[in-house]
Amino acid sequence: MKDHRQHCLNCNHIVEGKYCSNCGQSNKTGKITWMHLIKDIQFNFLHLNKGVFYTVVMLFAKPNKVISDYIIGKRVNYINPLQYLLLTASFYMLLVHYFNVLPVFSNTEPEAGIDFGKVYAWYYDHYSFSLLFTIPFFSITSYLIYKNKGYSFLEHIVIYLYIGGSKVILLMIMYPLFVKWNLDSLLNSMQLVLFIYNVWVLFLLFRSRSIWLDLLRAVACVLSSFLTPILIMIAIIALLGHL
Ligand SMILES: [Zn+2]
Repeated sequence: MKDHRQHCLNCNHIVEGKYCSNCGQSNKTGKITWMHLIKDIQFNFLHLNKGVFYTVVMLFAKPNKVISDYIIGKRVNYINPLQYLLLTASFYMLLVHYFNVLPVFSNTEPEAGIDFGKVYAWYYDHYSFSLLFTIPFFSITSYLIYKNKGYSFLEHIVIYLYIGGSKVILLMIMYPLFVKWNLDSLLNSMQLVLFIYNVWVLFLLFRSRSIWLDLLRAVACVLSSFLTPILIMIAIIALLGHL
């Protein structure tokens, strides 16, 4: 006989009230909506200490598990992805503005009328803001490239909110090294680390039969995601320069 009782999406325990008596997840947990991402934040601020550390560790150990768990509804152990990015972004702002650890781009020459040193400086100064701005571009690119995997656009936003928060953490770890040795070449290494992390997450999340094809697809996805916002930003800067 089929069991018609409602089961908790997080732990599969039978739920009767508003919350699961076994793990505490809300009984109303379902497919992710914009409202869910935004509304969940206020709720989470009260219980912030709970999933933060676990989510951060897991995002560097098994990022595909965090993301797929969250998307299928096993959410009680993790911090809401939007909140994760806002939290890491706040720490980043604090670090950059109060401890002044921002890299200095001294050796850059203006090219074709654009001073890339200034563009980079602005970019890293406002990295968390720039990141929020680029997330829709990254998400639409991965949504199109991995369309056959069946994730919605919003679910790709969730993927990139988690990736974005972890990129901010990686930068915060790398900035002190940058300041210590003051190496301009480290700028490229930092971008490379962020790039590899992004590829690694997509690779793990969208595994199929061939390792090499999966890897190629993940690299292609991240590269094309980078191009879209860069092209748009260059166009805006060029346009502003003409005004
Ligand atoms: Zn449960």
